[in-house]
Amino acid sequence: MIQTLQLGYHYPNGPRLEFPDVDVAQGAVLLLSGPSGCGKSTWLALVAGLVAPTSGSLTVARQALAALKPVAADAWRARAIGFLPQKLHLSAALTVAQNLAMAQWASGQPQDPARIDAALIALGVQDLAQRKPAQLSGGQAQRVALARAVLAQPRVILADEPTASLDDEAAADAVGLLLATARTQGATLVIATHDARVAALIPPGTDGQNGFQSLKLLRKQL
Ligand code: ADP
Ligand code: MG
Repeated sequence: MIQTLQLGYHYPNGPRLEFPDVDVAQGAVLLLSGPSGCGKSTWLALVAGLVAPTSGSLTVARQALAALKPVAADAWRARAIGFLPQKLHLSAALTVAQNLAMAQWASGQPQDPARIDAALIALGVQDLAQRKPAQLSGGQAQRVALARAVLAQPRVILADEPTASLDDEAAADAVGLLLATARTQGATLVIATHDARVAALIPPGTDGQNGFQSLKLLRKQL
């Protein structure tokens, strides 16, 4: 579902990042770890097709990203990728339901209130549909952002530092919610984190081994 080959990204006036190759199967979980600044968020942006690699290539959800022109890339991303950003970027002026409706509109999906209800129910936040983001707790806001991310039932879910600034119990909830959502949808899940607690929150697979693939990035020099 995610294959990268000699992937690299060189920020103009910034570091030259090189990433180890990965091959992540459909429905699998990838833990992308490493210290702050090692390139996790950049890797997510590459996999989401938000930035083009300066070297190497990648195939995500059977799409070779280099082949896509910008408009097609936007359409592809709207269908294939569910992004849970580190900063949730819920619109403060809109209700929870309106935030999800705006996401449908922005991604070119047909307006579908039934699907919005279903996503809010799946994440246990249907009672909050008429609230504004300022009236949500941090955990509730993250659930709403995850509902928004999976509205179009993407094949790949990318979560950037989903446990940042959460206490142990809330961090366990957040990871459990991501795993359950990905499993229900049959989606591939990537959790990018520098939080050492996360690995222990992913249960072992059926073979008793780690239930996830792990890609550890190291800090690169400029
Ligand atoms: P992580 O998510 O692992 O903390 P990032 O992918 O955000 O790492 O950043 C990787 C490296 O690229 C860091 O050294 C960071 O300072 C640098 N970087 C990130 N964004 C930019 C940018 N827009 N311009 C220049 N350098 C950047
Ligand atoms: Mg980051």
